[in-house]
Amino acid sequence: MSRSAHPAGPRHADVLPEGHYTAPPADLNSLDPRVWAQTVERTPEGAVAVGGLDVRRLAEEFGTPAYVMDETDFRARCRAWRDAFGSDADVYYAGKAFLSRAVVRWLHEEGLNLDVCSGGELATALDAGMPAERIALHGNNKSDEEIERAVEAGVGRIVLDSFQEIARVAHTAARLGRRQPVQIRVTVGVEAHTHEFIATAHEDQKFGLALAGGGSSSEAGEGPAAEAVRRVLMLDSLELTGIHSHIGSQIFDMAGFEVSARRVVGLLTRIRDEHGVELPEIDLGGGLGIAYTPEDDPREPHEIAKALGDIVTRECEAAGLAVPRLSVEPGRAIAGPTAFTLYEVGTLKELEGLRTYVSVDGGMSDNIRTALYDAEYSVSLVSRASAAEPMLSRVVGKHCESGDIVVRDAFLPADLAPGDLLAVPATGAYCRSMASNYNHALRPPVVAVRDGQARTIVRRETEEDLLRLDVG
Ligand SMILES: *Cc1c(COP(=O)(O)O)cnc(C)c1O
Repeated sequence: MSRSAHPAGPRHADVLPEGHYTAPPADLNSLDPRVWAQTVERTPEGAVAVGGLDVRRLAEEFGTPAYVMDETDFRARCRAWRDAFGSDADVYYAGKAFLSRAVVRWLHEEGLNLDVCSGGELATALDAGMPAERIALHGNNKSDEEIERAVEAGVGRIVLDSFQEIARVAHTAARLGRRQPVQIRVTVGVEAHTHEFIATAHEDQKFGLALAGGGSSSEAGEGPAAEAVRRVLMLDSLELTGIHSHIGSQIFDMAGFEVSARRVVGLLTRIRDEHGVELPEIDLGGGLGIAYTPEDDPREPHEIAKALGDIVTRECEAAGLAVPRLSVEPGRAIAGPTAFTLYEVGTLKELEGLRTYVSVDGGMSDNIRTALYDAEYSVSLVSRASAAEPMLSRVVGKHCESGDIVVRDAFLPADLAPGDLLAVPATGAYCRSMASNYNHALRPPVVAVRDGQARTIVRRETEEDLLRLDVG
């Protein structure tokens, strides 16, 4: 987010327009390992390769735009999380970040569990063979049908999000003759984003049941969460296994988790005192940040595991509770860094004294995060190396909308031309999963690359796919 003048040399250097950018990198051809997947490298020829495959070849075979996912990196991240948390904890990958059958199989093979939050995600998980007991169902407005399918399949956990849902899940489980393990999602009065967390006494959001009562206290008071616990414990068809808290997204600062864990343990203590039961599980959610640009400095899974483990242990020991089994739900931190979006440059417009608008063959339909959250990304020329001077650029899509921006401010080589390939790294999470058909765009494929082999795991949409839904 820093804004600074860059050294002499770049075009448009006289007037620096408004923007979030730092000085251009010393070498525009360098690939910062913080934002690129593990096997991405620039070859001696100058082009970029992933998993040993030249991106020009990938573009030829699979077309552009395309999401290119480094399977080696995805699996390595799964293992890093799994190993960091060890056998006393469970890692649930948050499927909403990006889900496909192949991804489900990778998760299964690497020993991760899976969070789903809709019937569609549940269907994908079950279809690809994830054992139901390793699936957790989330959502603030699960339909009766979704609940029924989850209970029937035997999912390991349903995370309850409202009073109505307690009754619905209990009823469905009773009807099916099951005792369904459930957690209760609470809101702890903390909201975390990036480098800060905000203590919010008041819970003005749709998820979860508040720990706090109507007053200003955020400690485990007489709030809806305690009432939900009381109700769930009275229902024979529900087995309350733990308390769940998810405080935000793209978090770098552990302080928010600290407050969250303390308050959740406060509720566990209260449950022990009031009901004589010690719940065996605590879930602290996901939201761990990744590097979208080289300025972001995320923590490694082992640091996160140690920090969270220490916090929970300390709070439980202080309360005289046995330490419950911890679970976490990283989505972005696993999928995000594993993919880049490969685009072809179409038109270029140099706005004198401002910047050059570089149009690519995708846009807000394949990456809505820039328009939606003001997200920052980086971008590189990947079909060749260039020794040209840096040019202040804005990478935009082809949609009929001026907010259709992929990368707001970036330096690209001044000799950039139509037909060049650009790649935007760290698009593995919340890009394909949030993609739309705006302007009847055809959603791009996801191509998985591993050890010199590339294969489509989600194919590109076709006009036939679009027209098939249009039955009027
Ligand atoms: C979105 C979400 C996650 C994953 O968030 P990331 O930022 O992708 O890690 C985990 N748990 C819950 C309940 C969520 O809603």
